Amino acid sequence: MTAGPRRRVGVLALQGDFREHLAVLTGLGAEAVPVRRARELAEIDGLVVPGGESTVMDKLSRAFGLREPLRDRIADGLPVYGTCAGLIMLSDRVLDALPDQRTLGGLDVTVRRNAFGNQLDSFETELDVPVLGAPPVRAAFIRAPIVEEVGPAASVLAALDDGRVVAVQQGALLGTSFHPEITGETRFHRHFLGLL
Ligand code: GLN
Repeated sequence: MTAGPRRRVGVLALQGDFREHLAVLTGLGAEAVPVRRARELAEIDGLVVPGGESTVMDKLSRAFGLREPLRDRIADGLPVYGTCAGLIMLSDRVLDALPDQRTLGGLDVTVRRNAFGNQLDSFETELDVPVLGAPPVRAAFIRAPIVEEVGPAASVLAALDDGRVVAVQQGALLGTSFHPEITGETRFHRHFLGLL
């Protein structure tokens, strides 16, 4: 984070592991606040969309009247970091979505929901993330999506050994298939704060 006034970062708190994100952001010195209402969007400099269940988050964001205001703020350039279900919410295109599932969009990528079957449903691994330097990131994947297609506007930050893309960035939008917030990893959040 650059010097200057302390930045206020919202965490979308409709559903999912928003408390873990609030804790990481607070630990990094940001003012972190839960966001549940459209008017709260006017008061933040950045937003984290947590992991959880994208189908539920989508339904709740519509029920709470947040979908359109969120899309407007993203179109205006609000920095947003999505983890797992949050990455799905930020993606322009989703495979294996429910028929009526919508995303907020913003990232020029195609993700596939629940892309790791059966035994690999949930796992942890060490991941090289060049933009974060050494050591590798301890990444927890929980019924995670993968990024199947990266459009020209987005760039790859990390991939598994087999080449499957699991972290992307497009300007001030950041998305990871995994959950750094539950393994004590703070560098992705620090990187995100640097985008504010
Ligand atoms: N499988 C979930 C979904 O489709 C994401 C899981 C997670 O966020 N850990 O939204």
